[in-house]
Amino acid sequence: MSKQKAVFLDRDGTIIVDRNYLSDASQITWLEGCQRALRQAVDAGYVLVVVTNQSGVARGLIQMDELELIHREMQEQLEEAVQVRIHQFYVCPHHEQGVVKALQLRCDCRKPGRALFDQAILDWNIDVTNSIAIGDRVRDLIPAAACGVQQLYLFESDQDSQVEIEEALKLLESIKKVKSWTEINFDWM
Ligand SMILES: [Mg+2]
Ligand SMILES: [Zn+2]
Repeated sequence: MSKQKAVFLDRDGTIIVDRNYLSDASQITWLEGCQRALRQAVDAGYVLVVVTNQSGVARGLIQMDELELIHREMQEQLEEAVQVRIHQFYVCPHHEQGVVKALQLRCDCRKPGRALFDQAILDWNIDVTNSIAIGDRVRDLIPAAACGVQQLYLFESDQDSQVEIEEALKLLESIKKVKSWTEINFDWM
């Protein structure tokens, strides 16, 4: 398999509305313009990879199988709307303050950790230098940049403090702040 470019996507607040521990498929709401943009990305040859922190699993707010159901529903909705699918979801279910003992740990996969990015790069033979990362938190972009991704998009949200954002912009000068999916164009290559 030759190297493939990818779009690394955060889930909550990036492709769907952040419901703060979404636990039911009825709460899925795609962000305006996202589905069409993902179709455009696939047409341009990108692999779609979602990397998501889901500490709700460690916190006992949602079970892993319920989370999988939500992701299956997202796939169906995306396929129905624009006839493409997310190639793979990568989930960190851990949290240090979790109540589920087996998941109560400090892991390498919770963003800004890069373990899930490294795994995706291996699994899909990803050409990082031609890949893109999109998130609504600085911590979504830090691991992508650490892996060599150069195109970084940050949705403006109030999730990070101004100080965190300023620090990240200084550190990762390639971050572009965007307001909506229409500002992201996958056709330049
Ligand atoms: Mg997010
Ligand atoms: Zn983890």
